Amino acid sequence: MSLVESKGLVLVAEDERAIADLERLYLTEAGFGVHVERDGTAVLPAIERLRPVAIVLDVGLPGRDGLDICRALRAAGDWTPVVFVTARDDEIDRILGLELGADDYLTKPFSPRELVTRIRGLLRRSSLPAQSPLLTVGKVELDPDRRAVRVDGAPVVLTATEFDLLAKLMSAPGRVFTREQLLASVWGQADYGGGRTVDVHVAQVRAKLGPASPIRTLRGVGYAVEAGDG
Ligand code: CA
Repeated sequence: MSLVESKGLVLVAEDERAIADLERLYLTEAGFGVHVERDGTAVLPAIERLRPVAIVLDVGLPGRDGLDICRALRAAGDWTPVVFVTARDDEIDRILGLELGADDYLTKPFSPRELVTRIRGLLRRSSLPAQSPLLTVGKVELDPDRRAVRVDGAPVVLTATEFDLLAKLMSAPGRVFTREQLLASVWGQADYGGGRTVDVHVAQVRAKLGPASPIRTLRGVGYAVEAGDG
C-alpha cells in the first residue's frame, strides 16, 4: 500500500492480535496507513520514527501502559491526537482526569467502524482552517490560528477537544449551547456517550482556566461563556 496516497499513518498500539487486526483492516479500508505495535516500550520510538497523524492507544499494554505513554508524549510537547482504547469502564475517569491530553476514548468491545469515525472526527477538528480573529472573554484570550489560550497573558495548555469546546463557547459569548449542540459541533455527532462527555471536558477546561473560567452552567440546559462570571 502506498502511504503517499493515504490519508496519513495511524499508529495502533494494541497487544491483542485479533483487535489489532480488526483495527488495521477498517483503518486501511478507510484510506489510512496503519502501523501496529504490540509492546508498550516500542510505542514512543515508533511515534518518533513514523510521525503518525493519530494514535490508537490501548491502556493495558505490556511493557509500558497507555496512560504512561500518553503522559510522556504530552510532556515532550507532542499533541498528536490520541484515541484511548480501554477494556474497563473504571479507567475512563483516570484517562480523562489525569490531564493526559486524551482526545477521545473507546471502551472494548467497540465497533471498528466507530473507531474510524472517531479518528476522522479528530483529524477534521485538528485541521480546521483557521483565519479567525482573537476571541476574548474576561481574562481568557483564545487564538484560533495558533490554537493557543492565555489567561491573564499566561499560556494554558488544552487538548484538541478542550480547545475546540472552549472555542465554540467563546465564539458567541452569552449564547447558551446545549450539550447536543456541543456534541454535534465539537465531536461531530449528537448521540455520542450522552452529555457526560461534554460535562467531563467542560470540567477539565474549567480546572485549567482556574478562577478566570468564563464558563457558566445552565442547569438542565447547557453551557455559555460570560465575562466576569464563573
Ligand atoms: Ca491490552
